[in-house]
Amino acid sequence: MFVLSANGEMISTDFDNDSSVITENADDTEWRCEACGESLSEESDGYADESGSLICDAYDPYDDPGIDDVEAAPDFREGPHRPHRVPLSWANSAAIHADPDEDSITVTISVGDPRGAFAVTVRRIPDDAETNGGRLIMHTPYPGEPMPHAALTTAHTGTYWVD
Ligand SMILES: [Zn+2]
Repeated sequence: MFVLSANGEMISTDFDNDSSVITENADDTEWRCEACGESLSEESDGYADESGSLICDAYDPYDDPGIDDVEAAPDFREGPHRPHRVPLSWANSAAIHADPDEDSITVTISVGDPRGAFAVTVRRIPDDAETNGGRLIMHTPYPGEPMPHAALTTAHTGTYWVD
């Protein structure tokens, strides 16, 4: 049985037509304050909330991991925001596309230009092909690929840094 799922939820077992699942990242924010929860932007002099303020209304010197001596810390509600990276904020979207006509499944993950994505495809060579009929073949992104979604550098075989 063919099962298409996203985040563990079964989406489809209907294999008669093209099946696609697309997950898009709704949160554009890359940084969020651990103290006040505001979305933050990285500025030259620190992290600003949406009103442009570098000062955190929820600042607590006893919670500030950058402070050893609370006496020397800013007062309550007068210190900086505490930025942490929003998980998955590097991703634009992810999709699975099952194509019976091509006898293929493609998984795409977009991390750069949202119009493109890394794609991994597994497909079966038709039985009536001159060679390799019935075998499965896998296509993956690779370093030096023309028109890459993003440049790749080999860390070790099968593992790449995304540049
Ligand atoms: Zn804050």
